[in-house]
Amino acid sequence: MTTPPTHPDMADFAHVRDWVFDLDNTLYPHHVNLFAQIDRNMTAYVAELLQLEPDAARVLQKQYYRDHGTTLAGLMLHHGVDPNDFLERAHAIDYSAILPDPALGTAIKALPGRKFIFTNGTVKHAEAAARALGILDNFDDIFDIVAADYVPKPAGNTYDKFATLNRVDTRRAAMFEDLPRNLLVPRSLGMKTVLLVPRNLGTTVLESWELAENAKQPDCIDYMTDDLAGFLQTIVGTSN
Ligand SMILES: [Mg+2]
Repeated sequence: MTTPPTHPDMADFAHVRDWVFDLDNTLYPHHVNLFAQIDRNMTAYVAELLQLEPDAARVLQKQYYRDHGTTLAGLMLHHGVDPNDFLERAHAIDYSAILPDPALGTAIKALPGRKFIFTNGTVKHAEAAARALGILDNFDDIFDIVAADYVPKPAGNTYDKFATLNRVDTRRAAMFEDLPRNLLVPRSLGMKTVLLVPRNLGTTVLESWELAENAKQPDCIDYMTDDLAGFLQTIVGTSN
């Protein structure tokens, strides 16, 4: 796999009418690391539910994540957990680490067409994070894990559900994500795909992904960037 370009060609996005954004580590940067808080809450939930020591709870949590795509999917399947209760407690976190990002808000607003958040988290979590960024009002809708019937990305059905519900023509849409595996289906549906990478870690992230998921995956990333606002500004021609 060759490293995707970081500078968008405006012509590549001229046909795009729907802009689809993952939330965590995409709309807010990787270093904010809200997931560390969610991750701890999930471990505590598993420990309490199954009366396990934290270390054992963590092993099981990660096993469910690997086997079923989310910890929740494993907990529902094997232990009949109430998803609403789990999601409420997993997302009981402090959002103060997210700082307002007016440049991102302006850039999203300037994109022609509709904008969506498509997250494996909840609407409540997405609203809280987007509100902290000061960008919530720029989105037309939020598609969350509840709307996905608790089947997370990268399941193909979940993208279909999102596109059908919102009447998104995927050939005229773009997807922004920090997890390469979540861009495989969008790319196959004809979406333009942009991978968000942590600052200064772009090549390392891609190399580790290539090693982990091996090279038989088709290239699914059109572009990569560590600066979402700057990338969007270039697409609409407002960068300086
Ligand atoms: Mg993410």
